[in-house]
Amino acid sequence: MTHVNESCMRQEICRIGQMVHSRGYVAGTDGNISVRLSQDLVLCTPTSLCKGMMEPDDLVIVDLEGRQRNGARHPSSELAMHLLFYSMRPEIRAVVHAHPPTATGFAAAGMSLEEALVAEVVTALGKIPLAHYGMPGTHELPDALRPLIPSHDAILMAHHGVVTCGHNLLRAYMNMECVEHYARVALVARQLGRTRFRRRKSAASWRRGRTMRPTGRYL
Ligand SMILES: [Zn+2]
Repeated sequence: MTHVNESCMRQEICRIGQMVHSRGYVAGTDGNISVRLSQDLVLCTPTSLCKGMMEPDDLVIVDLEGRQRNGARHPSSELAMHLLFYSMRPEIRAVVHAHPPTATGFAAAGMSLEEALVAEVVTALGKIPLAHYGMPGTHELPDALRPLIPSHDAILMAHHGVVTCGHNLLRAYMNMECVEHYARVALVARQLGRTRFRRRKSAASWRRGRTMRPTGRYL
């Protein structure tokens, strides 16, 4: 065992995988989840396995260069995206990637979720930007995310899905829930045709609430 919490983290990734799957945030074998075990080791989901059906021994351990250190299965094809978060954000301990339908709809339409519509979301996540398209499984995807990772805990990926991070796995997952819920609210507001954005001054005060707290410990 590489870390005192490795066994717990294996269980926790499987539990979060079931939640991601049961809420319809992924289909088939989509999505991937990872947790930083130590300074240089990451526990991540394998490729080609339903996130709702994983067993703790299905998970694999890699180092920050992506070399596999443990596990019989192959790591996620989006591993480079996860490792980029860990290399650029030392305080981050978990990353979740999924395709929640409403938020992914915004991403497919080329729309970010940066509008200041709901105070709690702005305070928790700030703006939710849209990264330009990068082919999944290639260096294009992490390259598209690189400029956004330092200042965002949730990012839409054009024509693809959503990636979130957090100081622990539950926070990274809840950020994913928050993004999808906010996308539904934004969609309804648009359908009602009365979307009213907060004036810049009010939105700025919401964002100040975010910057006054350490990352991942918002409302
Ligand atoms: Zn994906």
